[in-house]
Amino acid sequence: CGIVGYVGSERADGRKHTALNVILEGLRRLEYRGYDSAGVAVIADGEVEYRKKAGKLSNLVGELEEHPLPTSNIGIGHTRWATHGGPSDVNAHPHVVDGGKLAMIHNGIIENFSEIKRELSTQGESFVSETDTEVAAVLLARTYDAQPTDQKDLTVAMQDTCRRLEGAFTLLAVHADVPDRVVAARRNSPLVIGLGEGENFLGSDVSGFIDYTRRAVEMGQDQIVTITADDYTIVDFHGSPAEGKPFDIEWDAAA
Ligand code: GLU
Repeated sequence: CGIVGYVGSERADGRKHTALNVILEGLRRLEYRGYDSAGVAVIADGEVEYRKKAGKLSNLVGELEEHPLPTSNIGIGHTRWATHGGPSDVNAHPHVVDGGKLAMIHNGIIENFSEIKRELSTQGESFVSETDTEVAAVLLARTYDAQPTDQKDLTVAMQDTCRRLEGAFTLLAVHADVPDRVVAARRNSPLVIGLGEGENFLGSDVSGFIDYTRRAVEMGQDQIVTITADDYTIVDFHGSPAEGKPFDIEWDAAA
């Protein structure tokens, strides 16, 4: 199970990475962790677009060849190790909710998902997968939608959501309203930030972005990071500023 996130822009040398290339390369590097499904979401022209497939990454790549994604500078990618709901296309991540506006990927287990699912169902929400992840995605979407129009903040919505979740999770989300950022949270599950020039990365470990940068930041427990192409900001689940621990990756890229 692996996670990759990317936000880029044109770099100082004028070259550009596309989100899809960075993400697929990262997911390949993370294959050693084992997985049963894979998927990717990008934002292009203000819309979330995604592809996901049960099976090996090559299945996802085949799907992408048949149904290409538009070029984009922002996206998230996932390899799944099923815990809730068998390996299938519909249970694969990303889970895209809220009329296609919000995409979420998740590694880990949300222990209290049944309780939250029941609550959301009572309020009229419906679910298409059997995963715990979709419940977190719907909760995040509802929390975001409930914010006053002039106070919309995906990071704050993630804080409010995470305080309700129990268990182990690395969560990454993108929203069509804010196509310049990936918001990510971690509790009892790994997440590392990679720092580039005019581009930033997220990975379940540094192999998710090792081909692109050697500068990384370790996050603490129960923290949320928001990355844009030029910046990253870490807060705790209550919104208080938090510090990451920068480090240089020492690793032979040929390995
Ligand atoms: N619990 C989630 C699921 O079954 C995520 C599993 C994972 O870590 O890949 O879909």
